[in-house]
Amino acid sequence: MHRFKKIGIIASLVATMTFSMVACSSNNLEEGNETIDTAEASNEASQETSTAKYIFMFIGDGMSYPQVNGAQIYNGTVDNEDSVELTRLGFTEFPVTGSASFAPDSASTATSIASGVKTHSGVIGLEADKTTEVTTIAEQLKEKGYKVGIVSTVTLNHATPAAFYANVESRNSYYDIALQMADSDFDYFAGGELGQPTGKDKDQRDIYEILEEKGYTVTRDKDEILSLDNESGKVYAINPELVGGAMEYSIDMDEDSLKLSDLVSTGINVLDNEEGFFMMVESGKVDWAGHANDAMSNIQDVVAFDEAISEAVKFYNEHPDETLIIVTGDHETGGMTLGQATTGYDTAFDLLSNQKMSYEAFDEVLKTYLEANPNASFDDTFSLVTENFGLLKEGEDDNLLVLTEYELNKVKAAYEETLKPAEERATGEEATILYGGYEPLTVTLTHILNNKAGIGWTSYSHTGLPVPVYAIGAGAEEFNGFYDNNFFLQT
Ligand SMILES: [Zn+2]
Repeated sequence: MHRFKKIGIIASLVATMTFSMVACSSNNLEEGNETIDTAEASNEASQETSTAKYIFMFIGDGMSYPQVNGAQIYNGTVDNEDSVELTRLGFTEFPVTGSASFAPDSASTATSIASGVKTHSGVIGLEADKTTEVTTIAEQLKEKGYKVGIVSTVTLNHATPAAFYANVESRNSYYDIALQMADSDFDYFAGGELGQPTGKDKDQRDIYEILEEKGYTVTRDKDEILSLDNESGKVYAINPELVGGAMEYSIDMDEDSLKLSDLVSTGINVLDNEEGFFMMVESGKVDWAGHANDAMSNIQDVVAFDEAISEAVKFYNEHPDETLIIVTGDHETGGMTLGQATTGYDTAFDLLSNQKMSYEAFDEVLKTYLEANPNASFDDTFSLVTENFGLLKEGEDDNLLVLTEYELNKVKAAYEETLKPAEERATGEEATILYGGYEPLTVTLTHILNNKAGIGWTSYSHTGLPVPVYAIGAGAEEFNGFYDNNFFLQT
């Protein structure tokens, strides 16, 4: 068994279910409309012991410092005309902040977060020998009588959620992972659906049938989901609006869509009980938007994540001495940078608001248009660009949305690539740098709009930036400082 220098607070929680309350400075924080009253703490209070009965762990996949601050600058720019100010996201005002160094793979990183052990890339819930099963924080708390919830905007059997209930050598063993989910006995699953529900070769029993056999209510009905409570038994609430098994990007949702914040408030209703609960909530598409180099979709999902966290903060305000909320990321994605060569010291994040849909939704719009209009000229298609990204071919000199000649040539070259069948598109170093395997026109448009706003991208992959950690509530002070990713739970 591994031994590490520091003892993580969750390990303490699991081991003893009690810990010292250490004073956080008494202050008020604005969280949207929620005011956070941090526990009135004094030297006397630091001697008392308390139990973290309710634990929320929020993981923004691909969310590092640029993603968090990008969202704050964007909101600040839109909120304050003519000046750049930060509009703080609620969770960034938590009294305790730290920084963690994470390996850039979601499977091993989530295993480290969930179980406190370091393992190989791609491995879930097994030690470095790929054989010894680890017991996750969620499993340990379940054992203690807590109810457990696992929520993700993307599929529930991919690496991050799986690290809380599964033990498999490969993150790609989706069907095996789903079987372990059905056997987890956890109380609440919510968000996306399951990848490969009948196995890789589509020759296995339907996993949803198995889940129902194991006592789960599987529902895809919005009203039914919103009416769930702690009498509902074990449930798997699947968002009725999905794209490829995952929830839509926030930017693509409408008023009536079931949001991540709804799934967190419903989760609280389902899990709330006298024995306590643990809820892990992952925002998975911050990562995807990072891979695709789409800042607006990235930012809007970070903002939606903050709204989901504020549901936990409401609960915290009702149970401040018994609730711990931790917010972190698992790694950075895309090499997102705030600042870009052609804009120098300036930013114009408000330009991003001209983007009306995610790269994912625009790919569909473009495909449908080109299928219906196979002889469309560049100028014809460009009307879609103006409509959905605000970019213009010509206009007043001071209009930042007008493409320069350099940019227009890039868009034209990308359009030529887009018109080719996938197998005839350019490969090699330049194509990799320009398009990264994404739809050439779409990724060129997000690059140009992002660059004009003052956002740069260096990669289509994960990068090694550290991630922030924010904590509030019972035991939060343990998350001060800089530490390794297995700090969250040491065994
Ligand atoms: Zn990723």
